[in-house]
Amino acid sequence: MGVLSMKKSEQLLELRRREMVETLKGYGIVNRRVLDAFLEVPRHLFFDAAALELAYNDGAYPIGFGQTISQPYTVAYMTTLLVERCFSGKVLEIGTGSGFQAAILDAMGYAVFTVERIAELYERAETLFSRLGLHIACRFGDGTLGWKDEAPFDGIMITAGSPKEPEPLLDQLSRNGCMVIPIGGSSSQQMTVISRSGNDLRKEVFQQFSFVPLVGKEGWNDSVF
Ligand code: SAM
Repeated sequence: MGVLSMKKSEQLLELRRREMVETLKGYGIVNRRVLDAFLEVPRHLFFDAAALELAYNDGAYPIGFGQTISQPYTVAYMTTLLVERCFSGKVLEIGTGSGFQAAILDAMGYAVFTVERIAELYERAETLFSRLGLHIACRFGDGTLGWKDEAPFDGIMITAGSPKEPEPLLDQLSRNGCMVIPIGGSSSQQMTVISRSGNDLRKEVFQQFSFVPLVGKEGWNDSVF
């Protein structure tokens, strides 16, 4: 592709990114930090090169290994729940997937730690983070056990559907930390926020979503899927 047409396609992608942000506003996402992060992070870089034109549609998209990059609205919704309760600090994401959610959190100024259980996805995301110069710490393993050496975390976000809140993750929340986690059955889950205040835990429930399963020692059993 020539320099001019490359520039043109970059401009087109930027236009599509702005349209995506307008769509998010239409859904009621109004937090400025969240919207700015969506304007800043080029979602198409977290997409398969063959599907670039779909990168700014408001849909989930397959990333291989039976997993998906979440719908922009879902990412924006979860990020809003987090930022309204936890303005800054260390955030642990479970389920790196494409790396897009982690990049959004990074753009918002959090110190981001992320765990992925599928080796190929972990390696792909790690390579992409370093190519983009993003200082996101990522690790391969079972995220339901958290990241003990880096705990406590001000925020924990689980981007896969869980049957319950994993105990080790609750233990790794800071004294005023909060966790955003979809909890429910294998086909649909209710977005849940668990906020810690000292030794007390408060639970709030929000709308229904449908996530791929959180598979691990404190999540779904591998053999179920
Ligand atoms: N946050 C991702 C993004 O921005 O692309 C999308 C996440 S995708 C919906 C869910 C991810 O959670 C998948 O990549 C899956 O492999 C991962 N996952 C499921 N169980 C996990 C576990 N126990 N530990 C770490 N990752 C897990």
